[in-house]
Amino acid sequence: MLRSAARVVKPVAAPRRMRAVVPRAFSTSTACKSGLASLHTFTEEEQMLRESVQRLAQDVVAPRVRDMDENEQMDPVIIKTLFEQGLMGIETSAELGGAESSFTSAIIAIEELAKVDPSVSVMCDVHNTLVNTVLRTYANKEQQDKWLPLLSESKLGCFCLSEPASGSDAFALQTRAKKDGNDWIINGSKMWITNSYEADIFLIFANIDPSKGYKGITCFIATKDMGIQIAKKEQKLGIRASSTCSLNFDDLKIPAENVIGGEGKGYKIAIEILNEGRIGIAAQMLGLAQGAFDKAVPYTYERKQFGQAIGTFQGMQFQIAQAAIELESARLMTYNAARLKEEGKTFTKEAAMAKYWASQVAQSVSGKAIEWAGGVGFTRETGIEKYWRDSKIGAIYEGTSNIQLQTIAKFIQKQYS
Ligand SMILES: Cc1cc2nc3c(=O)[nH]c(=O)nc-3n(C[C@H](O)[C@H](O)[C@H](O)COP(=O)(O)OP(=O)(O)OC[C@H]3O[C@@H](n4cnc5c(N)ncnc54)[C@H](O)[C@@H]3O)c2cc1C
Repeated sequence: MLRSAARVVKPVAAPRRMRAVVPRAFSTSTACKSGLASLHTFTEEEQMLRESVQRLAQDVVAPRVRDMDENEQMDPVIIKTLFEQGLMGIETSAELGGAESSFTSAIIAIEELAKVDPSVSVMCDVHNTLVNTVLRTYANKEQQDKWLPLLSESKLGCFCLSEPASGSDAFALQTRAKKDGNDWIINGSKMWITNSYEADIFLIFANIDPSKGYKGITCFIATKDMGIQIAKKEQKLGIRASSTCSLNFDDLKIPAENVIGGEGKGYKIAIEILNEGRIGIAAQMLGLAQGAFDKAVPYTYERKQFGQAIGTFQGMQFQIAQAAIELESARLMTYNAARLKEEGKTFTKEAAMAKYWASQVAQSVSGKAIEWAGGVGFTRETGIEKYWRDSKIGAIYEGTSNIQLQTIAKFIQKQYS
């Protein structure tokens, strides 16, 4: 099964020549005479990827979800499998070891993994939509040749921006970098860094000239063996298998060639990457909500009370229908943001909306799913309660819900004032 998944995932990229001349099938579907297609229309490549990730999630992830959650640890077999199946370099070019696929493909993979385990999903999401994307977009050729094959094939990455005193106000970060000959010396600490316990490759944001404010922020790439210390692994409410750690940098020496995108460009890199990263979190939350729905709804047609299936009571039917509408709206917003990004159009507002709404839907649908399953939904055995615990993070990371609303409001003000 996995071998066939490998065959499906790896060659999903269309030949280079075709990629250059054929726009996304989203807007060129032959099934639709107008040339426009629904947001449920996918290329053959995207559909194949979805099916192969579904198989992988069922075969490899599903049997490990409960233990990983209880032990608060990612199973290394899953990390290894994601690399082997080409899911850790989804948009990276084939010559650098990636699957050379589309952004929407990455979104689909994140969504499908989240249906089974949102922890595995966010690991894949951060690695692809933040770490790989920073390097694909801002690194020079030598840096790309060096780092992207490692990130596609075996080395997990993490994105180190937040600090104890700078969360929503991320650019108030205190980590400093000082030039020392051909090196940079980094001192400071980071907090809440996803993947950092298992990661080998770290993108670190540090200020090289605090007098310039956010314009001093610079992005560096480092490896764990350069001396990055894991200070603390957090114990969390949800996504417990996804590692979240505090890091210390104590005179961490990084070669000058490890600056990504140029000195002082860290602010721009972080802002732009997080804008698109939010579509990944929307996809994670969408998958999570669908996973909870898929687990709980069939149960409502099996469980009988008062002589009939509980799912056939109007009170239940209406709640289920309402949840299905919420899911559909989150799905359309997420896919729409992904397609806008892929088509090179502005997408910041739509990404913020998708992330905000999908995280609301994830909380609401997973909460309802527990209630639909009654007492058993409240036990850890069914796994339904885990979706609800996991959903809470969607309103916090990569910009809290308030920060998304702030972004959306800025666009509205600009348009109307
Ligand atoms: C599990 C987990 C994984 C994470 N992974 C990463 C990672 O990989 N890399 C990384 O760099 N960071 C990561 N983060 C950090 C995450 O992005 C921050 O937690 C988030 O940005 C919020 O910052 P904060 O926790 O400091 O909350 P605060 O910024 O202190 O916010 C607390 C509350 O105040 C509100 N608030 C703050 N400012 C405003 C405002 N201007 N207007 C209205 N309300 C406001 C917020 O909305 C929130 O409700 C992760 C966090 C968690 C919990």
